[in-house]
Amino acid sequence: MSIKKILIANRGDIAVRIIRTCKEIGVKTVAIYSEIDKDSLHRFIADESICIGPNNISKSYNNIDNIVYLAKKLKCDAIHPGFGFLSENPKFVERCDENGIIFIGPTMEQMSLMGDKSRARETMMKLGIPVVPGSKSVLKSKEDAMEVADGIGYPVMIKASNGGGGKGMRIVYSAEDLPSLYDMASSEALASFGSSDLYMEKFIENPRHIEVQVFGDKFGNALHFGDRDCSMQRRNQKVIEESLSPYITDEQRESLYKTALDVIKGIGYIGAGTIEFIFDKDKNYYFIEMNTRIQVEHPISEMITGLDLIKLQIEIASGRPIPFAQEDIQFRGHAIECRINAENPDNGFAPCPGKIESLNLPGGFGVRFDTFVYAGYTIPPLYDSMIGKLICWADTREECINRMYRALDEMILEGIYTNIEFHKALISSDAFINDTHHTKFIENEFNN
Ligand code: ADP
Ligand code: ADP
Ligand code: MG
Repeated sequence: MSIKKILIANRGDIAVRIIRTCKEIGVKTVAIYSEIDKDSLHRFIADESICIGPNNISKSYNNIDNIVYLAKKLKCDAIHPGFGFLSENPKFVERCDENGIIFIGPTMEQMSLMGDKSRARETMMKLGIPVVPGSKSVLKSKEDAMEVADGIGYPVMIKASNGGGGKGMRIVYSAEDLPSLYDMASSEALASFGSSDLYMEKFIENPRHIEVQVFGDKFGNALHFGDRDCSMQRRNQKVIEESLSPYITDEQRESLYKTALDVIKGIGYIGAGTIEFIFDKDKNYYFIEMNTRIQVEHPISEMITGLDLIKLQIEIASGRPIPFAQEDIQFRGHAIECRINAENPDNGFAPCPGKIESLNLPGGFGVRFDTFVYAGYTIPPLYDSMIGKLICWADTREECINRMYRALDEMILEGIYTNIEFHKALISSDAFINDTHHTKFIENEFNN
């Protein structure tokens, strides 16, 4: 069926991003917003907008009952979940299914399988996909954890099976530390993710994070859209991403793409997904997880392929086949994304919501800024501190870095603290320029 009207169950830059595509392809949109988001851009640019509830996310953006009720009432054919919030909640998919609303994403089963990171690992092992050495399934007890750690050797990482957003991970350097860190990790996992299930992986020292963007459709087509290098991280959260990765050879790239496609073919995956891998210092790669949704950093893949990935999500959800073949997807030039956050790098990156007094956005050839903020807008203190994504494209990596520096330099955002200057330091660092950085670079270099 063709989708004519979509409810966007999200806020911020991704809500704006989805509405933009909908407008271009003639699909009507409904924006939802919490009380404090009444001045947020997404709700002004949608065809219809409605307050979904109070500020608390369980009463607004995570309120499945209200969202599904509203989608039906306003005669939406589909719901786009964006990222974060309900985007990886299988119950939400189930409720959409029960109510005859298309969920723009994978099936409930595929989402449940990958959302449980330990179960996803088990499935990967069955499919012959390389995973980080570690536990075969969820850790049964502290004793079980001890045994696995002895087998793979310290340091190890204890990870929450239902974790996400860079949270719920502990590095364990020795057997003595394991019992107390195990207890801490399990109670934190229960409090943050609703399940105390943990699994274990060998801690890979100073790895690179490289992921593959994939899409599958109902007709068994499985395509990749290149890779993204997200090795510039802070506390396991991405800060800068680039595509394609400068770190791997074409030969390694082909092998990585084949592995990523084996994953989605192996589970018959439908929709947009990202297969995340880490690379050790010998460039061996291991699956770490699959994200069953559109990702924050999807624009860099759009810039190098010239394809609108949100449009493709909608086409696949409408039941149509992917309208091109793998060989039609060509990679051109280089793209980098800097996540601009309302935070103070000089004060431990503390979030700094508040009013944007003045704003000058960068522009010019090859510069894109995806955001929901504008001059005079007050960033609410309740949600994510990301206020936008600065994306640059150029012919070569070197030109792209220069363009990014220029664009960051041009950007003026007064009234709140941001990480703009910090980004300038990162992209002009020798490590980034020479491509010798890794996921612990920021922690090591900036003592944070
Ligand atoms: P990406 O690679 O798309 O950045 P992330 O895992 O960082 O993936 O998550 C994307 C968004 O979802 C971010 O805004 C992040 O804060 C949020 N998010 C993801 N998982 C969780 C979670 N379990 N708890 C809270 N926020 C989450
Ligand atoms: P999330 O669901 O929070 O995104 P991931 O499993 O994708 O969690 O890991 C997020 C980041 O944590 C990785 O990009 C990497 O920097 C770090 N990380 C995860 N697992 C390991 C590991 N086994 N060894 C070293 N670093 C890891
Ligand atoms: Mg991840």
